[in-house]
Amino acid sequence: DVKKQRKARSQIYEASMLGRTHRAAHIEARLLDAIEADRIEPYYQPIFEIDTRRIVGLEVLARWRQSGGDFVPPDVFIPIAEERQLIDALSERLLKRACVDARQWPEDIFLSFNISPVHMETEGWERRLMDILGQTGFAPSRLQVEITETSLASDLPAAARALAFLQKEGVAVALDDFGTGYSNLAQLSNFSFARIKIDRSFVAPLLEDERQQKIVRLMVALARVLDVWATAEGIETEEQLVLLGKLGCRYGQGYLVSRAVPSDEVVALLAAAPLGAATIGGQNLPEQ
Ligand code: C2E
Ligand code: MG
Ligand code: MG
Ligand code: MG
Repeated sequence: DVKKQRKARSQIYEASMLGRTHRAAHIEARLLDAIEADRIEPYYQPIFEIDTRRIVGLEVLARWRQSGGDFVPPDVFIPIAEERQLIDALSERLLKRACVDARQWPEDIFLSFNISPVHMETEGWERRLMDILGQTGFAPSRLQVEITETSLASDLPAAARALAFLQKEGVAVALDDFGTGYSNLAQLSNFSFARIKIDRSFVAPLLEDERQQKIVRLMVALARVLDVWATAEGIETEEQLVLLGKLGCRYGQGYLVSRAVPSDEVVALLAAAPLGAATIGGQNLPEQ
């Protein structure tokens, strides 16, 4: 019986592996076409000041809409692009489009762009990034790059050199998904980030769990002593927003204010008055 069970289980396993491999191969085959036809599009999610809900910047999130209208999630196609050496082409085209879009925004609004750890392993990526800014006429001081700690894991000196180069050119560097990795604290001592982005897994349980509140409070305090701005990801409710403000977090991002939207909707978002600022205005937030 056990034998039969094991056999059945291994068949299920094989079938699911096969399914996954097929799916990946299927996606991979169309990914190159999609990249070359610029069908991977930049969408933009606002980053706002929690106190005022004023939008201060927008994060580029890659969206791949298929001919049927369905979206392939970036969590699916980015890893495939990384594996198949398509990430350089994808990143560069996406950044170019985003810079062109962002040139139309008010000058005090920054653009935040996710850099893949695999892209960072390509020799000279930081120079090509600066070239794109030059070509599109986008000011380096309006760009923020988001990296994860994985980017610093394989070749720390090279990554730190590239990031220091960008910083010298005026580009801000943010540490994304803060709190989810193994050595976030080490990364904070290795490099001076402009921002840390507190992962949404800390924000989701915030109201129900007092321990989580203490941890977020500590993350924000840590950021403050290091002169780093904290941004909380994944704010979905009013209550989370108010609580994060009380915990001293200055910036936020999340569905409560807006999902990622296509370029033509950004202008409208920026034109709209900050929502409900009166309800949380006047609250004295600690200075960073
Ligand atoms: P990330 O950089 O941490 O981006 C934040 C993710 O959280 C986005 O998912 C965003 O849509 C989602 N999010 C924002 N607010 C909320 C919220 O209130 N609730 C919930 N549940 N989710 C929220 P998305 O767009 O699916 O991207 C997933 C990940 O894929 C990103 O995580 C990033 O690591 C990667 N990614 C996306 N676009 C790019 C890109 O252009 N280049 C690279 N290298 N990676 C990208
Ligand atoms: Mg990000
Ligand atoms: Mg993140
Ligand atoms: Mg994330």
